[in-house]
Amino acid sequence: MERKHFLKTLAALPVAALAMELKGLARITEPFPITARMPVLFLGHGSPMNAIEENEFVAGFRKIATEIPRPQAILVVSAHWETRGTQVTAMEKPRTIHDFGGFPKALFEVQYPAPGSPELAEETRQLVRSTTVGLDQSWGLDHGAWSVVKHLYPNADVPVIQMSIDYSMSPAQHYALAKEIASLRDKGVLIIGSGNMVHNLRMVAWDKINDTYAFDWAAEARDKMNTAILGGDHTSLVNFHAQGRAFELAIPTAEHYLPLLYSLALQGKDEQATLFNDKPVAGSLTMTSVKIEKA
Ligand code: ZN
Repeated sequence: MERKHFLKTLAALPVAALAMELKGLARITEPFPITARMPVLFLGHGSPMNAIEENEFVAGFRKIATEIPRPQAILVVSAHWETRGTQVTAMEKPRTIHDFGGFPKALFEVQYPAPGSPELAEETRQLVRSTTVGLDQSWGLDHGAWSVVKHLYPNADVPVIQMSIDYSMSPAQHYALAKEIASLRDKGVLIIGSGNMVHNLRMVAWDKINDTYAFDWAAEARDKMNTAILGGDHTSLVNFHAQGRAFELAIPTAEHYLPLLYSLALQGKDEQATLFNDKPVAGSLTMTSVKIEKA
């Protein structure tokens, strides 16, 4: 709400309602005081098994948590929550969703009991003007969120909310939407895009499932994506449909790629992107992850 409209609304409210409104505002803003601007991450999450395996990628997730300030709360845009319209999870206690099949029992037994944050959900809803953001009470934390966030904050003591990917929106619309929530970064909120830049499950080289191996087209797409990210060429990345055959094979469907656009959209003019976990796996995936912070 613009200040002008806000004041007008206040003037029209009876005193009791006004008191409630102010109390509501205090509740929304109190837990998220102004802080130094938080970095932004894009995390290549890869196989759900990364949740319980020890490997160089999870070591990379742990390391990145030591390089950034401890957040007040986390907002994850996960490849694994696509909806009609944009939603944010608004429950107090999000459940751990095991949204996969065919994995060992141990993976289904993992719980990540981080609290939610109805306050952050509401604040996010109010920030977005280009579309109506719904407050969701039924989702929770899918493996795009918990399988990586658990390595950053293993004690599950930082509140986590998710923002869904509206499958009816264009890449440019996703990029623009992300910019609307940029101010959360100044309130200690760590915004994480979680997907995989190169992600073609149909073409996985099953004989090289644990190898840092890339098909030629995957290597080409990775090179071009990395160059664009490091050079700040977001236009090419938003227009990924126009980047030729390597990109077509790397991004057969957009859901694992779009979280990258959310992260990049939040990059300020004085900020630099750096890469970590920058390796291919199984021929047709990359784990490449991005940290954005002041240069
Ligand atoms: Zn995934």
